[in-house]
Amino acid sequence: MRITIVGAGYVGLVSAACFADFGHDVICVDKDEARVTALKHGRMPIFEPGLEKLVMRNASAGRLQFEQEIGPAVATADVVFIAVGTPSRRGDGHADLSHVYAAAREIGRSLTGYTVIATKSTVPVGTGDEVEVVLREAAPNARFDVVSNPEFLREGAAISDFKRPDRIVIGADSGAALAVMQEVYRPLFLNRSPVVAMGRRCAELTKYAANAFLATKITFINELADLCEAVGADVQNVAHGMGLDNRIGSKFLHAGPGYGGSCFPKDTLALLKTAQDHETPLRVVEAVASVNEARKRAMGRRIIRALGRDVRGSRVAILGLTFKPNTDDMRDSPAVAIVQALEDAGVRVSAYDPEGMEAARTYLPNVTMAGNAYEAAADADALAIVTEWDLFRALDLERLGAAMRHRRLIDLRNVYSRAAAEAAGFAYSAIGTGSPA
Ligand code: NAD
Repeated sequence: MRITIVGAGYVGLVSAACFADFGHDVICVDKDEARVTALKHGRMPIFEPGLEKLVMRNASAGRLQFEQEIGPAVATADVVFIAVGTPSRRGDGHADLSHVYAAAREIGRSLTGYTVIATKSTVPVGTGDEVEVVLREAAPNARFDVVSNPEFLREGAAISDFKRPDRIVIGADSGAALAVMQEVYRPLFLNRSPVVAMGRRCAELTKYAANAFLATKITFINELADLCEAVGADVQNVAHGMGLDNRIGSKFLHAGPGYGGSCFPKDTLALLKTAQDHETPLRVVEAVASVNEARKRAMGRRIIRALGRDVRGSRVAILGLTFKPNTDDMRDSPAVAIVQALEDAGVRVSAYDPEGMEAARTYLPNVTMAGNAYEAAADADALAIVTEWDLFRALDLERLGAAMRHRRLIDLRNVYSRAAAEAAGFAYSAIGTGSPA
């Protein structure tokens, strides 16, 4: 099939490379000239494990091209995916759909023959109807269908998630469009990945419901961790005992500094706005969003408490800046709120992250970026692990401590055991282990 993908970000680029790897002919379009030029020269604009190899292999096989112009790419396509960003709109938290509609307008101008337009971006329920209107205005006589095909991949594991998804959700109100989408995903059909067909509105809402539920699970265990600290229990044991129940499941029960990233915070907010607009408030999700927001800065205060009294002028080393390991994505990372809380208290911050430091510089201009974990720890009065990169799981604690002014370890990801940290002379504080900092 001939597929065009609009947007070469975390979702668009990964989808383009994977569809090409299935054998489809793919053109990936982005309006960002620098991004397209880099991709044409084999340079990846984002860090995602395995992506460079996949892109190179399919580009050199002639199945994957990058363009800045939408027009020619749309004219020849059987399916056009919209995979542009839908960030929170400034001021009210609604999803900002301006990129989606702009893409739809441009697509509309170049439609020839029957084309399926599939929205992969996460968009509020009803957006497909609007996309249809925009396309119809631009192309009154064109033959097309608009479907919703939300994406569930996780950054850091995006390629395997895309190639082996738990399910593929297709929201199509026309049989012809559904048939085209089934053909697009046929290689996965053979892998027995279930294709779940439903109405377009159901598909749009399914994406938000899934993200809000996962955010709820994380927030539930985070609050429970606070209770564990107050009563002298260990949240890891509690989560393990809970998670073995098949009805609950063990995933997303890891207590930590609060969820972040480019999806959960904005998607929970957007869902809340949709619910309010329809006068069906989602109180559970409202609580989740506000508890999580407060938690990130509270983690900064936890580090400040660990420092003791006069914190002004103290130095804190932060290990891990991205919202999770194996990505360079800094959007809404808990590290941002944590560092802000520290800097507000007059603390100087140094940091190390294997992939996120370049992106982090715009969010955290006052942080001193180090060349490695030990360099970040130099002269620090405390060290906090914020993101659980593998690299931080087996640090030489003796060497780390020797570099620091005071041996204090605030382990916001519960990577170390209290025994190991204390054996290396650290005052140790973890999440939900019954001994608050
Ligand atoms: P991103 O910001 O990384 O990439 C979006 C790209 O679209 C940018 O490169 C931008 O230049 C390009 N773009 C914007 N408007 C355009 C236009 N009119 N024409 C051509 N290119 C245009 O975004 P992302 O993280 O890939 O997310 C895309 C969508 O997928 C969002 O709705 C997001 O919620 C959803 N999503 C993201 C993830 C994730 O893990 N990042 C997972 C599932 C779903």
